[in-house]
Amino acid sequence: MKPLLLLICGVSVAFSQSSQIVIKCGKLIDGKSERVAENFTILIEGNKIKEVGANVKAPSAATVIDLSDATVLPGLIDAHTHVLLQGDITSEDYDKQLLKESTPYRTLRAAKSCKTALMSGFTTIRDLETEGAMYADVDLKKAINNGVVEGPRMFVATRAISTTGRYGLSNSVYSWELRMPKGVQEITGADDARRAVREQVSYGADWIKIYADGSYYKTTDGIWHSIPNFSKEEITAIGEQTRMLRKKLSAHAVTRDGILYAIEAGARSIEHGSGMDDECIKVMAQKGIFWCPTIYVEVWVAEGRAREGSPAFKMMLEELPERFNKALKAGVKIAFGTDVGGFDWTENQAKEFSYMVKWGMTPLQAIKSATTVAAELLDMKGQLGEISPGAFADIVAVKDDPLKDISALERVGFVMKDGTVYKNEMK
Ligand SMILES: [Zn+2]
Repeated sequence: MKPLLLLICGVSVAFSQSSQIVIKCGKLIDGKSERVAENFTILIEGNKIKEVGANVKAPSAATVIDLSDATVLPGLIDAHTHVLLQGDITSEDYDKQLLKESTPYRTLRAAKSCKTALMSGFTTIRDLETEGAMYADVDLKKAINNGVVEGPRMFVATRAISTTGRYGLSNSVYSWELRMPKGVQEITGADDARRAVREQVSYGADWIKIYADGSYYKTTDGIWHSIPNFSKEEITAIGEQTRMLRKKLSAHAVTRDGILYAIEAGARSIEHGSGMDDECIKVMAQKGIFWCPTIYVEVWVAEGRAREGSPAFKMMLEELPERFNKALKAGVKIAFGTDVGGFDWTENQAKEFSYMVKWGMTPLQAIKSATTVAAELLDMKGQLGEISPGAFADIVAVKDDPLKDISALERVGFVMKDGTVYKNEMK
């Protein structure tokens, strides 16, 4: 999440990897089908799933993991995280991280956040910008991939882009004589916008993240508005350059003034979108634009920000259940994204599921949003978010039935990523 001013914006052991592992599943939700399979077996070879079914023969040399008392699911995907942020209800919470913590210290804390996500069952995250910690997300991703620290697969956005003076830390708060650190890369002009995209991609960005709007307000017709951050030329240049470099664009956009023009510039996903109107819902459904509603962070910051004099978040939260339900019924692709980091990493990011179900999703729809739908957003269909032959062996399990009680996903007891078991409390 982010600065107030402008937005609203067990024990783990990495067991050695056997070349063949067999998992016996009591119940299996594969992420794709509408039905729950019973007494299926998964055969894993190396880091990939080889076979799934009722009649899979276990090779004699295979390691057997017995999850026959559990529900087995694909590894979960959180499509909106900030591993380098540790909660920011107030601008003071945010500012002190940028002012009092060095990037190395923040990166050490982030390594812990990565481990937390993995232990909670999130085997993949799309981390949507470092909030002033430059390219530390690229290093974390590298450290995870090289086995230096434990964490999810990471898709990273590096620094994010906004325009000059439209993101914290702000000189409207601090003395104009100070040169404040910034939570984004600031640009002015289309050429500068292209340069920022080129730079970020060259340093390892998988996604480009923009802050499309800020300063939210509601007009008497009940429609939410905001101040767009970019000129038409700037946002168009970002979209074109991102496409040219074969990357994808994610847009923090809260109201129609940010959402519609970010979509026009080529955004694949809208982040937050808490103030979207019916036209936004229609356009998103028609064009197949993904929505990460980041519900739990809205819940987390609403009261505190209202007390600080910014009631917009609380007002939008009150309207969010209806909007969520409308978007769901209209067929908008809703990808699970929590904005964890905007709320403390001590809070389980899987709490998002309960709101999604309370507001209209079936438990299976909510699970799909964090598996197959999020995998589609990441262009990883068939590889992530499903338990099927050829997919990466990212697998979790829970004791209780998540289709009866979705909060079971807050108690993940087994985590495998890339064929390696990181947690098994199911024995
Ligand atoms: Zn965020």
